[in-house]
Amino acid sequence: MDTKAFKRSLQHSENYHRRGFGYQAEVAAELESEYQSNLIQEIRNRNYNFKRGDVTIRLAQAFGFCWGVERAVAMAYETRKHFPTEQIWITNEIIHNPSVNQRLREMDVNFIPVEVGKKDFSVVGSGDVVILPAFGASVQEMQLLNDKGCKIVDTTCPWVSKVWNTVEKHKKGDFTSIIHGKYNHEETVATSSFAGKYLIVLNLQQAEYVTNYILNGGDKDEFMTKFSKACSAGFNPDVDLERVGIANQTTMLKGETEQIGKLFERTMMQKYGPQELNQHFQSFNTICDATQERQDAMFELVDEKLDLMIVIGGFNSSNTTHLQEIAVERAIPSYHIDCVERIKSGNAIEHRQLNGELKITENWLPNGEIVVGVTSGASTPDKVVEDVIEKIFELKVTAAVV
Ligand code: SF4
Repeated sequence: MDTKAFKRSLQHSENYHRRGFGYQAEVAAELESEYQSNLIQEIRNRNYNFKRGDVTIRLAQAFGFCWGVERAVAMAYETRKHFPTEQIWITNEIIHNPSVNQRLREMDVNFIPVEVGKKDFSVVGSGDVVILPAFGASVQEMQLLNDKGCKIVDTTCPWVSKVWNTVEKHKKGDFTSIIHGKYNHEETVATSSFAGKYLIVLNLQQAEYVTNYILNGGDKDEFMTKFSKACSAGFNPDVDLERVGIANQTTMLKGETEQIGKLFERTMMQKYGPQELNQHFQSFNTICDATQERQDAMFELVDEKLDLMIVIGGFNSSNTTHLQEIAVERAIPSYHIDCVERIKSGNAIEHRQLNGELKITENWLPNGEIVVGVTSGASTPDKVVEDVIEKIFELKVTAAVV
């Protein structure tokens, strides 16, 4: 399918919207009252440090809502105002934050139901309004909605669209896209739908496996079993790895994406020689600034002396998980939670581990003076961060009195 031509024709359709509807000021005021926080603003003003009682909070210098997320949420709010009586659907969570998604449900924005792992678009009628979330939607979904005669409000972040353009360039040049990402993440599902031939690698270890195969060959069946869910239809590692281009899910660890890019570059250089490199390797920088800034701020934060870290963000949020990885690597006691309700008491916190499982940790809040590092993923409103910080203050006061 010529995805580029399809996108172009969709963008010219009167049913397609990718800018707001003129309610910016009104919506900005609503978003501020629902998601912003005076406490967090005060902490920012105090150079990201704040002490109350025994607790010193060190906030990362970049955290929380990125502009792509703010833009998507604002567009969803504007959509409700612009289409007050129409049935409105969204193809997925607008962003990975439970409170924001719940707020949309309250505004009567419906999520496409999922039956046995498959979205059921039969509920969507002609003329309904369908919002595409910040991390986009697959080209097949867009086509289906367009064929149904829906009004499409596309909130896809421009950084994500940039990656789609990159894989389309690979396709045009007959390069296989090596996508650093999670094969079942909505963004990567969308990105791969715009690619021609592709292979999705989760981490450096998988990338090493692939580059080793490129240089030395290997067991093709084993390769295909390993990547059965992470490659394009009909993928053949013996012929489809001769020309590769690098792309990524925008929220992966920046350093790892760079390492993977360099590894493939070295591999192609080794196999084909420097003169032939451009015929066999392409790379464009598609790491989003917001992800990079949040990761850099986290690296700075974990260099400080912290007693513990709280990382706040949706449990299916990739960028939040990567922030948590940074703390875990430094062996800092760190708890990834998605809302204040995960803090059960001074002695118990329910948190997500890197393997995805939830765990309750007892005695997580040390006695006496403590320094707590705090950060949050790109989908987390400041209000949620404030709730968590206030809860910690409250528990420490109670503990001191007892
Ligand atoms: S994290 Fe980056 S790519 Fe994702 S929505 Fe925010 S700005 Fe866009």
